[in-house]
Amino acid sequence: MSGKSFYLETFGCQMNAHDSEKVIGTLEQQGYRQVESEEEADLLLYNTCSIRDKAEQKVFNRLNDYKRLARAGKRFGVIGCVAQQEGEKIFERAPYVSLVAGSASYRRLPELIERLEAGETRVTGLDDRQTEETFETEFTARKNPYRAYITIIEGCDKFCAYCVVPYTRGKERSRSSESVVEEARRIAGMGYTEIQLLGQNVNSYRDPIGKKSFAELLTAVAEVDGIRRVRFTTSHPRDFTRDIVEAIDAVPTLCDHVHLPVQSGSTRVLRQMAREYSREWYLERIAWMKAAKRRISISTDLIVGFPGETTAEFEETVTLLDEVQYDAVFAFKYSSRPNTPSLVMIDSIPEAEKSKRLQILLDRQREIQRLNYENHLGEKMEVMVEGYNPAREQVIGRSSQNKPVNFSWPHPIAPAPGSYQWVRVTRAFPNSLVGEAVTGEALTGQATAGMAAV
Ligand code: SF4
Repeated sequence: MSGKSFYLETFGCQMNAHDSEKVIGTLEQQGYRQVESEEEADLLLYNTCSIRDKAEQKVFNRLNDYKRLARAGKRFGVIGCVAQQEGEKIFERAPYVSLVAGSASYRRLPELIERLEAGETRVTGLDDRQTEETFETEFTARKNPYRAYITIIEGCDKFCAYCVVPYTRGKERSRSSESVVEEARRIAGMGYTEIQLLGQNVNSYRDPIGKKSFAELLTAVAEVDGIRRVRFTTSHPRDFTRDIVEAIDAVPTLCDHVHLPVQSGSTRVLRQMAREYSREWYLERIAWMKAAKRRISISTDLIVGFPGETTAEFEETVTLLDEVQYDAVFAFKYSSRPNTPSLVMIDSIPEAEKSKRLQILLDRQREIQRLNYENHLGEKMEVMVEGYNPAREQVIGRSSQNKPVNFSWPHPIAPAPGSYQWVRVTRAFPNSLVGEAVTGEALTGQATAGMAAV
């Protein structure tokens, strides 16, 4: 490689986005400079996702689009889930690729990059599922100006029938609570007030040293000076315990929002998916949240068209929406994935039927959300500023329940990202709220700090 500039494109989930922040920090520590286009870069990196067929295809299309740059001596690296899943096969499919590294090997990135610099043409970092290592680094290039991420647990031991993650990210391994709280303090020191704890199954956290429970870790992070909001994602119903709800009720800094993927409303389909809980069991966890003192907003993930899902079983998923009244649903059509148990199941639901079921679900959920959001009309709520939309002359923000709130602002200078404002809700839409700033009512902490011209 002639120079030390790199381009990094990230596909997929929040875990991948935060991994990329750590990869960028590690490369910058090694003297590399991040550039915004493939043409400018000496090293082109793609942090990949293989959760669905389409996601994986995107990577190879991108590689194909830019293979012409290989002639100019540029190096290509595929990292993340497709790298771990496909391994050395990527070198055959795209011979101009010279680095293939799964997320479990990122702590070895400096060494892998040095081998590239030394001229090696087939460098791999493909740890097996048994690795105990976590990717802890003090070099994180935090790209979000108002929210900082901390990965507290990596990997997954759940082996849901349709999912590649246990094979691409290794077994569950948690960081010590001490290192997590220490990172939270560093983040607060950088001026952040909001932290999001990450994990494929964040509530499967098992403190290897301090023996703190997940709920205790949440509270410890929430008690860090300067931190005003703590979020966590993604939870698994099997490890969702009552003390998490009690912690949210007891600690105002813990956001009143829980993302609890259910995947299906049918107990038989859940069994086929190897989710290891029933509809009733799941609804008991929902009941804990509904009984909480705070109004906890709940969101979920759903799959339609899993092999063998009958119309009646799909109907059970629809009725689950009515029963739970989610504030947000991320729904997908089933697609079979390599190496997963469901690969051997006959993908019996025709694509057109999957699309029809998905639309029915989205339409029903949209109606539920419209009513849920209308419940906020007239309410005064604390909003964290995330940006400004000059075209609409609106401040972009988010409530502690993770609801988008956009509001008018009476001053020529917009509030800075990361600051907090009181907002009165004047209009409601299925996916967002609109309001006006309640001025003259001070908020404690950072409310009016760092104003910038609109
Ligand atoms: S819990 Fe299931 S769906 Fe979630 S990452 Fe693990 S295997 Fe995949």
